[in-house]
Amino acid sequence: MLENMNEKCAVVGIFGHPEASKLAYFSLHALQHRGQEAAGISSADGKKLHTIKDRGLVTSVFDEKKLDTLKGENAIGHTRYSTAGDDSILDAQPVFARYDLGEMAIVHNGNLTNAQEVRDVLIQKGAIFQTFMDTENLIHLIAKSEQEHLVERIIDAVKRIEGAFSLVFLSRTKMFAMRDRFGFRPLSLGRLPNGGYVVASETCAFDLIGAKYIRDVEPGELLIFEEDKAPQSIKVFEATPKHCIFEYVYFARPDSSIYGQSVYQMRKNMGVELSKIKPVDADIVIPVPDGGVPSAIGYSQGSGIPYEMGIMRNHYVGRTFIEPTQEMRDLKVKMKLSPMVNIIKGKSVIVVDDSIVRGTTSRRIVRMLKDAGAREVHMRISSPPTTDPCFYGVDTPDKDKLIAANMSIDEICAFIEADSLAYLNEEALLRSVNENGEDKYCTACFTGKYIV
Ligand code: AMP
Repeated sequence: MLENMNEKCAVVGIFGHPEASKLAYFSLHALQHRGQEAAGISSADGKKLHTIKDRGLVTSVFDEKKLDTLKGENAIGHTRYSTAGDDSILDAQPVFARYDLGEMAIVHNGNLTNAQEVRDVLIQKGAIFQTFMDTENLIHLIAKSEQEHLVERIIDAVKRIEGAFSLVFLSRTKMFAMRDRFGFRPLSLGRLPNGGYVVASETCAFDLIGAKYIRDVEPGELLIFEEDKAPQSIKVFEATPKHCIFEYVYFARPDSSIYGQSVYQMRKNMGVELSKIKPVDADIVIPVPDGGVPSAIGYSQGSGIPYEMGIMRNHYVGRTFIEPTQEMRDLKVKMKLSPMVNIIKGKSVIVVDDSIVRGTTSRRIVRMLKDAGAREVHMRISSPPTTDPCFYGVDTPDKDKLIAANMSIDEICAFIEADSLAYLNEEALLRSVNENGEDKYCTACFTGKYIV
């Protein structure tokens, strides 16, 4: 079985800058929240591609000496998130290959839905695979295509794949960026201060390297970057936008703009909507940091109930392997989140989070707040119940582990031991993110309405 290896990832491409690999490094650093498992960069110096990738955070994979070996004016990069047990270095990106037209490297964010079928056909025809990544299919499709030029081969290859893909390709002299016809995952185009170009999963990468946002890569669009030319655009597929709404709910960084709107503003809108449709009388509104912060601010502003920082988050918590006893498990949560007892004690508290997946986090948070002396705990979630898994690139567990797929809201409330629990509904969520009322979002994780 192919693993969902490209979910929750970040991609970046830098074209036409003498320090391309360093800019890719800084961009990946800004995009670290999209994946912490592995990081990699490939650069192109006109004659050759150079690649470094490894497990770990961007800052631990690269240092100045390594970046100096990634020569050339063009570079692509990737950070990977994967829940799958196999964290082999082979499954880090970029994926690099030599083939009849020379050398190429690919980075991919998203999930191909027909990856297994495509791979089975390729294997029957004699292809040999080194990784479990669906991205490797693309290398084979490009290498086997009968077309003469790389751009035609890329078009050939992407017509054979289905699902979610924001891709950046690097050849020895060119760079290509491509987004699937639905634009499931974000991808933006920017201009570097020296006149070069950048593409990245989120615009927070642009801010760090001083790039100016130009526009989003359109759904179904292929952009070709060539020396001394403006990027050339080819419409490979008719655009039918179905952007992942969960990027706005949880995944993207609040200082990014994606799909043309500020993530922070969208999240705040969700909080305001939530305060209107699910009001409750209480003393303070507190967020579950960091995800719940913008929507808790919105809830506070919408309701007039004061916003307080009721939970501290420790940012230096990596993986802990201490699991055996219940006592130790509780300690593990407290390592990450601790209650501000002076703020909470004796109060009726509204606690805002972006989503409940398995329910274990919410349950521990409610218990923690009660232990800290909260009189009442009202849980408010700034998205609808997560009832269905994502096949387009967000890491969600199987349906049997999604608490909202298996319990009613009242049952979940009892499970997390809150005094009340309420979610945003689909209409209010769409109102929050739809400034001009278009139907352009994929909401499958909340509705089960899958697009492909
Ligand atoms: P739980 O209900 O215990 O599974 O966890 C819910 C928490 O995980 C919420 O605080 C969310 O902010 C966060 N969360 C939601 N979706 C994801 C995801 N795809 N990956 C990691 N964390 C997530």
